[in-house]
Amino acid sequence: MKSHILGFPRIGSQRELKFALEAYWRKTCTETELQQQAAAIRLRNWTLQKKAGLDYVSVGDFSLYDHVLDMSVVLGAVPARFRSSGKFTLNTYFDMARGNAEAGIAAMEMTKWFDTNYHYIVPEIEPDMTFHYSSDILLQETTDALQAGFNPKPTMVGPLTYLALAKAQKGVNKWDVLESIVEVYGELLEELSEHADCIQLDEPIFCTDLPDEIRDRAEQVYAQLRDRAKHSRLLLGTYFGGLKENLELTARLPVDILHIDLVRAPEQLDAVLEKWPRHKMLSLGLIDGRNIWKSDFSTLLKTVEKAKQKRETDQLWIGTSCSLLHAPVSLEAENALPPELKDWMAFAVEKCTEVKTIAQIAQGFHEEQRLAENVASIKNRRTSLLAVDPAVRNRTEQADAGMCRRNRPFAERKKCQQQQLNLPPLPTTTIGSFPQTREIRKIRKAFREGLCDEKTYTRAMQQEIHSVIQEQEQAGLDVLVHGEPERNDMVEYFGQQLNGFCFSQYGWVQSYGSRCVKPPIIYGDISRSGPMTVDWITYAQSQTDKPMKGMLTGPVTILCWSFVRDDLPRKTVCRQIALAIRDEVQDLEKAGIGIIQIDEAALREGLPIRKDEQADYLNWAIESFRLATSGVSDKTQIHTHMCYSEFNAILHAIAEMDADVISIEASRSDMELLQAFEQFDYPNDIGPGVWDIHSPRVPTVAEICGLIQKALKVIPKEQLWINPDCGLKTRGWTETRQALKNMVNAAQAIRNTL
Ligand code: GLN
Ligand code: ZN
Repeated sequence: MKSHILGFPRIGSQRELKFALEAYWRKTCTETELQQQAAAIRLRNWTLQKKAGLDYVSVGDFSLYDHVLDMSVVLGAVPARFRSSGKFTLNTYFDMARGNAEAGIAAMEMTKWFDTNYHYIVPEIEPDMTFHYSSDILLQETTDALQAGFNPKPTMVGPLTYLALAKAQKGVNKWDVLESIVEVYGELLEELSEHADCIQLDEPIFCTDLPDEIRDRAEQVYAQLRDRAKHSRLLLGTYFGGLKENLELTARLPVDILHIDLVRAPEQLDAVLEKWPRHKMLSLGLIDGRNIWKSDFSTLLKTVEKAKQKRETDQLWIGTSCSLLHAPVSLEAENALPPELKDWMAFAVEKCTEVKTIAQIAQGFHEEQRLAENVASIKNRRTSLLAVDPAVRNRTEQADAGMCRRNRPFAERKKCQQQQLNLPPLPTTTIGSFPQTREIRKIRKAFREGLCDEKTYTRAMQQEIHSVIQEQEQAGLDVLVHGEPERNDMVEYFGQQLNGFCFSQYGWVQSYGSRCVKPPIIYGDISRSGPMTVDWITYAQSQTDKPMKGMLTGPVTILCWSFVRDDLPRKTVCRQIALAIRDEVQDLEKAGIGIIQIDEAALREGLPIRKDEQADYLNWAIESFRLATSGVSDKTQIHTHMCYSEFNAILHAIAEMDADVISIEASRSDMELLQAFEQFDYPNDIGPGVWDIHSPRVPTVAEICGLIQKALKVIPKEQLWINPDCGLKTRGWTETRQALKNMVNAAQAIRNTL
């Protein structure tokens, strides 16, 4: 029974890769130094896997930026705009990922890897692109691992997933290039087969609704690859869900080992045991690659037993559900977590040991001590008083449909709100945050580290709020915000004040390139100890006669951007957060705040990949938002914000959120998304962003007027708000001042024509 993982985090336990990359980009470290750091991380990762007792070490999971981009490089799929400089260098690679402002070359697009928070660089297929085996990094790393005494299992994104995720230029059918791509994959496999007895091709696409092109051609593609891989075994990695209706097809593929995700889709085991040919190997993805909890060995061993009834032991492999790319590196350095909670967790390093231990026990080796430890720890977690708050359980159960409805329909609410707020047509506002200067970060850090007392800190924040308000008054905005200077992160800020959350010190996970996030950990029932934002917002309101918009993060976003406990359904956890936010919304209202924005930046990304699972998610997600926001009187205006623009699939759900006003990103796509809103006849107020805040460029008054006019073609003037695409946290003051002025002037100019 072989044990393996599908991939290991590449950032290093102390984010060494991030710092090396950023130093290289700043030109304070050489390419050689960067490559040395990278090699050191790979060596450490392999050593950890070997030490844990795994039969293989994963190779090819490392990348200097992104493994999908690496595949594009291997295939020679380098778009023409990066080829003009001739030779392909490391800088060309980074230009593809990040663009090159000096040379005026745009980066390739980046988007989310399935339903994770990892972002990959979208392959581009150009009309005259030819594909050649163009980089032997995978081969090199494989031989490096061999030479260093490891048993390498090279891994790569499979051709079907690669092409499914690619974007073709207009007039190109990307599936036309499948054959040439498979040819290059074949060459690569042939080379690798000299050095590795097992090669992993990741095809998570099989856990999605498959395009016909894959349905029709998968068998042929894999027959070809099987051929080229000679005596190496091919392992097909499927994960992020169940194979469902694609099982029959998958079972026909001529690969040697099928890996399935039994964390996301434990129910598929029976069907897979039935359909996957008996003489072939099956890899059971039992250890959660996307969460931080210790596995429950007893339960997993039962699953293995079940598989053993249908298969010989040596035909079964034990693995992680997916790559550990989505988990933090190691628990070892964590010394601030409460010991009881730390004992419930397993990061990547610990998960490697779990994989091995399960395989050992399943084969009858004596692992009494490890098993006993696991049983004790799981039992402790199950019975711990830390995780359960009867009052929260009660309240969550009792929350009913009535609590998820505003008193009156939007049209009537709008009238009372207008009486109250007396806003001009096309009201102007911002999304919440204002530039976070070095001084703000410095004082926040000092306060966090106990180097500055609360009074000094509060005074500094109030000063900042005061000045942000003056700026907004000078710009002439209608609805003001306090600027969020006290927040480091829109989820962490609330997590830190809510019961049921804890925080690791080094639990970083790669989001893209050198960018990492450290998600809060939800371990217990969630409640609020007291008001979280009321003092800041009421202070802000006291500084102006204009309406102040209170600013909160919504339940779905808090859920999606955290590591969530796995002993309660996600929707229950979401509901608990919703109730806590509801209390905050009501406290703000009581304190005289008439406009409250509840951001749901992550609502879209929580959407399941499978169409047949989306409705259920949207149901409970929207219900949670409504639970959080419906406790106020009709006079109180509820805003929400989402910073992306692919709304088509979820527009009906967005409307059901019944926010009085929604602000969305739109300027980057030149208001394209509004068509969807028009066709759907979106009923409530909308603020499509008119300023792309992702770059320091200041839009002119004329440009903004153009966008507003475009918006007015599809949105009635009574429903339209004017705002930027997103928060201004990462912007500087110079461009912010200018752009806000232009935005207000543009709104004014158009108002005069209405
Ligand atoms: N209110 C937040 C801000 O302005 C919203 C951020 C976001 O949508 N990602 O920063
Ligand atoms: Zn946003």
